[in-house]
Amino acid sequence: DLTFLHPRTAHLDRLYGGLLVDGFDVESCHSRYQSAMYRRNPGRRPSPYLISKLRRHEALQRRCGPGTAAYSNALEQLKSGKSVASPECTYIVSISYRGIGNRILAAASAFLYAVLTDRVLLIDPSNEMDELFCEPFPNTTWLLPPGFPLTDYANFSIDTAESYGNMVKNKVIRSDVGVADDDVPTAAQLPAFAYVHLNYDATIEDNSFFCGDDQRLLRRIQWLVMRTDSYIVPGLFLVPAFQEELDALFPERDAVFHLLGRYLFHPNNHVWGLVTRYYDTYLAAARQRIGIQVRVFGGMPDSPELLEQITTCTQKEGLLPEVLPAAGEPILPASRARSKAVLVTSLKSWYYERMKSMYWELATATGEVVSLHQPSHEEFQQSGARSHEHKAWAEIYLLSLTDVLVTSGRSTFGYVAQGLAGVRPWVLYKAANSSAVPDPPCGRDVSMEPCFHKPPGHDCRLKQWADPSKDVPYIQHCDDAIWGLKLV
Ligand code: GDP
Repeated sequence: DLTFLHPRTAHLDRLYGGLLVDGFDVESCHSRYQSAMYRRNPGRRPSPYLISKLRRHEALQRRCGPGTAAYSNALEQLKSGKSVASPECTYIVSISYRGIGNRILAAASAFLYAVLTDRVLLIDPSNEMDELFCEPFPNTTWLLPPGFPLTDYANFSIDTAESYGNMVKNKVIRSDVGVADDDVPTAAQLPAFAYVHLNYDATIEDNSFFCGDDQRLLRRIQWLVMRTDSYIVPGLFLVPAFQEELDALFPERDAVFHLLGRYLFHPNNHVWGLVTRYYDTYLAAARQRIGIQVRVFGGMPDSPELLEQITTCTQKEGLLPEVLPAAGEPILPASRARSKAVLVTSLKSWYYERMKSMYWELATATGEVVSLHQPSHEEFQQSGARSHEHKAWAEIYLLSLTDVLVTSGRSTFGYVAQGLAGVRPWVLYKAANSSAVPDPPCGRDVSMEPCFHKPPGHDCRLKQWADPSKDVPYIQHCDDAIWGLKLV
């Protein structure tokens, strides 16, 4: 009984206010009903409307998902290449590529789109996506089964002829047909599937996905395959047809990924073992836990400037105590009752080693005890390698169990951690010049939402460049990526 270990959180609601559904097999996924016991921050409450919508969506996934007659029929339709007038079920396949942070944000984005448009979500199992998580929907699978007729889907790119953008550009389909009710394109005029390219390199035509007329047309296409490496959710808030529904689902707009993330992403039993053993051994006993995500890249040399940026940020913002000069005598005796445990995650160990030495060699000005911990240092990104992916996911999750977060700007790895944690992080700004420490070294993020790095910059009606954030009070440019957009 874990409540014995975590008396502080024993009262917590393991279903997160109805976000999760009861009745899953407990053994198959320990994290699903145990995670609330590891969270000091109970997080935001889901709206009653979100809860009812999730239950209805789970039923849809069961009725139409792999193994059902509806699914077999839809596959036949896809093989025939022809569209059907009013299909029983419609689908969206989310391609899984790049790092785990990107993949999680892509899956969450595709899920929200699926909920808004009553499509069944199917996740491309590439890059261990079939292995890292428990199933989120009861009695069905969210994984795209083997043998999908579009055999080359994982290689779809900006050049794919069946991309929505290319079909619009080449007038294979027309978004202005079907706008009036008496002007509906016949099924024969529509393809059985469209590839939706919402990658960082999306064209204006690809990004017309975020326009109302295009959504009306896309609704009639039974199969969509989507590629994104970003969090496109702020873009969905720009589509007029979705706004009313989104308002009802998420009265608190800064908690969209927070709720979707806690609903969808449960570590499998192996990863949960990595998370809980580490947490219980190194983090549980401290009075406060601080997570520091140091996103560095394989070839980068260790940077004294980045180290200084981290220490200046954490000390200036009062997250970690300052240290006394070498000969300084502590004014207050060190006290275990005022201990801080710091979880550092990084591909390199240098930053952690240096901080650990500093807090060993020098006394803290406050008498606080600071311990440092870094679970792994994998040196290079190895997306798709099983044990590497396990560690990356475990470390994102561990960061999300800390009380205070310091993250690296523009990193989807950090975005996922802050969203699951439900905290606004202190963001280490990217240095314009790598030999200088940015001033200020960090700033408090305006919300816990991830940033949509490459949003559409095009007005659907006027067909010209426009800043979509200017008319929408709850969408702002991101501090860490000024061209990006985020919900606040
Ligand atoms: P982003 O590139 O920072 O947006 O984050 P992603 O998660 O999409 O891609 C980075 C990938 O590099 C991760 O998925 C890991 O494979 C690896 N990686 C980066 N930072 C860390 C880290 O702190 N710990 C571990 N274990 N892996 C990391």
